[in-house]
Amino acid sequence: MGRILFANVRVLDGNGGAPFEGEVLVEGNRIKQVARDRARAERGNAELIDGQGQTLMPGLVEAHAHPSFANTASLEALGEIPPEEHTLLAMKHVRLLLDHGFTSLCCAAAAKPRLDVVIRNAIRAGDIPGPRMLAASPELTVTGGLGDVRLKHLHRDTFAIVCDGPEEFRRVAREMCREGVDILKINPSGDNFVPFALAQHTVMNEWEIAAVCEVARSRGKRVATHARSAESVKLSLRQGCEIIYHATLCDGEALDMLEAAKDRIFVAPTLGVTHATLYEAGPWGVSEEMATRFGLKHELEMAVANLKEMRRRGIRILPGGDYGFAWNPIGRNARDLEHFVRYLDMTPMQAIEAATRLGGQLMQQGEELGQVKAGYLADLLLVDGQPERDVTILQDKDRLTAILKDGQFHKRPVPARAAVRAAE
Ligand SMILES: [Zn+2]
Repeated sequence: MGRILFANVRVLDGNGGAPFEGEVLVEGNRIKQVARDRARAERGNAELIDGQGQTLMPGLVEAHAHPSFANTASLEALGEIPPEEHTLLAMKHVRLLLDHGFTSLCCAAAAKPRLDVVIRNAIRAGDIPGPRMLAASPELTVTGGLGDVRLKHLHRDTFAIVCDGPEEFRRVAREMCREGVDILKINPSGDNFVPFALAQHTVMNEWEIAAVCEVARSRGKRVATHARSAESVKLSLRQGCEIIYHATLCDGEALDMLEAAKDRIFVAPTLGVTHATLYEAGPWGVSEEMATRFGLKHELEMAVANLKEMRRRGIRILPGGDYGFAWNPIGRNARDLEHFVRYLDMTPMQAIEAATRLGGQLMQQGEELGQVKAGYLADLLLVDGQPERDVTILQDKDRLTAILKDGQFHKRPVPARAAVRAAE
């Protein structure tokens, strides 16, 4: 079994405590020993990595990943990619995410029914590089819901499967389970850029949500819900959805229900896409003025107030920003940690903990993933700098000097690099 010893590192363990100087021994795919302060870990025949004082921390977890989204400026452009090219694109994106320090992805919808599944399987088989991955279905939506891009007399497609009535939702949910997804994604609320289904509109009814949740429950799967309106949050919680995306327009009752369910649910607000659409989509024809008119500024303000209240109530909030659109492309995902600090008043350490320890829980591996701790899976980043002081460091992949997933180097440290930097 391979052994790797990280010596001379600052250990940031993902548990919220201050980093400490230490050594970390990896054996096979697990962390065997974490030695603090002056203590030394076993040497034996381990490959020695001199961390030169850099930070060793858990790999990041993306709570709302879309590896098959193509950074397009419109939903329908995504539907124009043939399956073969699309598979290769998703393969490129999972590698990119791993290059950026994301060693786990909780997927929030695939652009075609089997894309997440085949990519997840290929990663697991060791055929292609990529993070651990929970595969999602496409977004199950209603006629006239988010993702229904059809036009009369013209074929158009995107990331959604349109279903109407509980029977259709049940059938498609069963089909997706047959194809091997881990997560069923539903769109009970709209979104502010969809004129016929806005963020405050609840377009799926409770029987439809119940049908998907029933299928998930019967097969040990989870349901992730695109829930911006207060009503969509409530219906989703009542029917047992466990991954609540957005939750931006909550009212008091929705907050109470989230709090009551806080031990079994996770909220990922996806601040990244909202921020980028508001302030950075100008080159694609969406000015700040236009986005404000669409209601995005109001929604962001509501989201920030609601999320601060959720934090106060101890609800788990995770970074994951819907990266995969033209103005919010895949690869920038670690920016969501900065948004957590900036918008939600988290300390950098709290944002890191949300992306690591809580991320492990979201992956349903909280007892073995997301911390630098003996017995845990060896998903580790060696970081040139102190991300608990400046969380934006994590957005620069060149400052991730080593990336280890499941005990294997995805990126090996270049010994000279840290020395050169120190000399400078
Ligand atoms: Zn999304």
